[in-house]
Amino acid sequence: MRLLALHVQDFRNLGQVTLAPSAHASIAVGQNGQGKTNLLEALYFLATLKPLRAGRLSELVKWGAPSARVTGRFLLKGAEREISVEVASGVRQAFVDGKKASSLEEYFGGVSVVAFTPDDLEVVKGGPDARRAFLDRAVFNRFPAFLRESREYARALKNRNRLLKAGPVDAAYLEAYDETLAKTGARVYARRRALMAELAPRAQATFASIGRTPEPAAYGYHPAHLGDVDFAGADEPALAVALKEALAARTRRDLDRGFTSVGPHVDDVTVTLGKRSARAYASQGQQRALVLGWKIAEIENLEAAMGFLPLLLLDDVSSELDPERNAYLMNYLAASGAQVFLTTTDAGLVRGAAAKDTLWLAVRTGE
Ligand code: ATP
Ligand code: MG
Repeated sequence: MRLLALHVQDFRNLGQVTLAPSAHASIAVGQNGQGKTNLLEALYFLATLKPLRAGRLSELVKWGAPSARVTGRFLLKGAEREISVEVASGVRQAFVDGKKASSLEEYFGGVSVVAFTPDDLEVVKGGPDARRAFLDRAVFNRFPAFLRESREYARALKNRNRLLKAGPVDAAYLEAYDETLAKTGARVYARRRALMAELAPRAQATFASIGRTPEPAAYGYHPAHLGDVDFAGADEPALAVALKEALAARTRRDLDRGFTSVGPHVDDVTVTLGKRSARAYASQGQQRALVLGWKIAEIENLEAAMGFLPLLLLDDVSSELDPERNAYLMNYLAASGAQVFLTTTDAGLVRGAAAKDTLWLAVRTGE
């Protein structure tokens, strides 16, 4: 997969940007607040239909403009195709070769991207919400259908919560909601489990080569409150049964509190170093290496699963790493042959990733 051309219009502070990226590295250099992250965000949004930062879709549209649009021409398995996404009045529309996309699967059609930003440290430092979002981005990259599946679960959850909040409810009525929630939830469990089975061993190995600590890292995912089902071995219908039973067992509590207390939306990802919580005990630098290990594993895993490398977006990460780990990352990027977009305020930090055909972009407000 390769991005041949990118066109951005009225996306955040970017008015009109047209560029032909390098097959290797494209590096955006500029001072703070110029639009470097916005450029990466436009690309991320194009490739995932999700904003890179939390917030409303309408925030993506340039102030005073009616709509934002990002268009990319990709080379995918020898054929060129153009995808485009537009945001107007807070609503997003996706296009393939100029026509409205008929499904998300048609839209993505093999486009994949891995972003690495300073916010990713949240996977270690932040709360369970941030960790789930981090995990789900990786799941979505690996299994694009997960975008639809996770929305189906979110909708079922919202419906059940609305019912719980409304007060006393007929048990048979609630059971119908539990059924849908358990079925869609089991799919989320299964997707996350499949991703972790592929990714965790790779991430642990990558960390071992960059972490420079005697203790091994471990990345894990275990659903909360799911009873004594064998999570690693159960098939999806068995997970649905387990979730439905857990929902039934917690109905009274859920009615009292007005929300659903079991399911994929309350799970967490554990990151440990030498069996101890990385959030509580690992140093800043070790936490960064834990995230770097995960990201590199994600890239390698996508390559192994799909037969090509994803597009890599690195937002200002070099300033976050010590020289040794930064050199490891730059060498990795240069050797991987991936198409990469980097942003930096200091070109010297990322020179190691540059090749002969590197595209250097000077990002300044008003351009
Ligand atoms: P840094 O080096 O500090 O990370 P940056 O070059 O990555 O800076 P961006 O985050 O890309 O900066 O751009 C930030 C600028 O974009 C801010 O000045 C912000 O006010 C502006 N901005 C954000 N959203 C919009 C919008 N919807 N319309 C216009 N401008 C916006
Ligand atoms: Mg930035």
